[in-house]
Amino acid sequence: MKLVIDSLSKTYANGVHALKDVTLTMNNGMFGLLGPNGAGKSSLMRTIATLQEADKGSIFLDELDVLRTKTHVRHLLGYLPQEFGVYPKIPADKMLDHIARLKGIGQAGERRDIVNGLLEKVNLYKDRHRHLGTYSGGMKQRFGIAQALIGDPKLIIVDEPTAGLDPAERNRFYNLLSQLGQNTIVILSTHIVEDVSTLCSSFAIICKGEVLYAGDPEKAVAALAGAIYSKAIDQADIQYYRNIYKVISTQLRAGKLHIRVLSREAELQDGFVAAEPNLEDVYFSNIATRVDVNTL
Ligand code: ADP
Repeated sequence: MKLVIDSLSKTYANGVHALKDVTLTMNNGMFGLLGPNGAGKSSLMRTIATLQEADKGSIFLDELDVLRTKTHVRHLLGYLPQEFGVYPKIPADKMLDHIARLKGIGQAGERRDIVNGLLEKVNLYKDRHRHLGTYSGGMKQRFGIAQALIGDPKLIIVDEPTAGLDPAERNRFYNLLSQLGQNTIVILSTHIVEDVSTLCSSFAIICKGEVLYAGDPEKAVAALAGAIYSKAIDQADIQYYRNIYKVISTQLRAGKLHIRVLSREAELQDGFVAAEPNLEDVYFSNIATRVDVNTL
């Protein structure tokens, strides 16, 4: 499967230009859509999920025109939205059975097999009779994936799925997601760089509605080899460094500000040490020119 998004644009009624000529190609496997809050990730996800219209541009899933054959696309789609509400008083297995029926799986026996299989897959089988309102954040997200998987979708969209999960829950969720990507396109939107470095074989950085980078995370990191330097400075001196260097990120640790700088000079003096580049450097060096770095 291949998803080809071409020159997609969207301006909301309030004048916010949420998507600006977004052009991206996604293949089978996990595709990470990385960007700060307000970048346009959800707008893009909802448009791909056929839930809202674009003003301009096209989306094709292989031969299928996504924006013109919505009903057909919905049969191939699994979607876990950012705000995934659950009915608190309903047990997980009953809810999944209901969703399976809505998705057109008519036979009760077939539904039971599918529902039980999915509950096993997301490791909620032993909790299948519990009301959804008693689930933890991580359990709700795993339940969300189970409902998205009903009907064997070819395109799965998960919008900010790890926000609010603790590290153990996030790990369990990573393990689950990483099993999905073989024969399907899984689009994962996130503002967490680690989500992309752990899971995704391709990714794009989106900011203020524009695609700033698209490619392979490992290649993106390799392209920064020899160009990242770090230094621990006094907090008061940050403006001096910002004036002279391209400071891409700052982190306060034990009273010192650890800054990372992008420089193509052979060797940076001034007390800097060469640092191993990582995906955060790729992310911050792309968005640093677009957003106020003081807020990063
Ligand atoms: P992200 O998912 O990356 O946080 P969104 O797609 O939710 O970004 O939002 C992109 C921009 O569009 C933001 O400025 C947001 O306030 C605005 N926006 C999102 N949805 C709507 C809407 N329904 N009406 C008006 N503005 C919206």
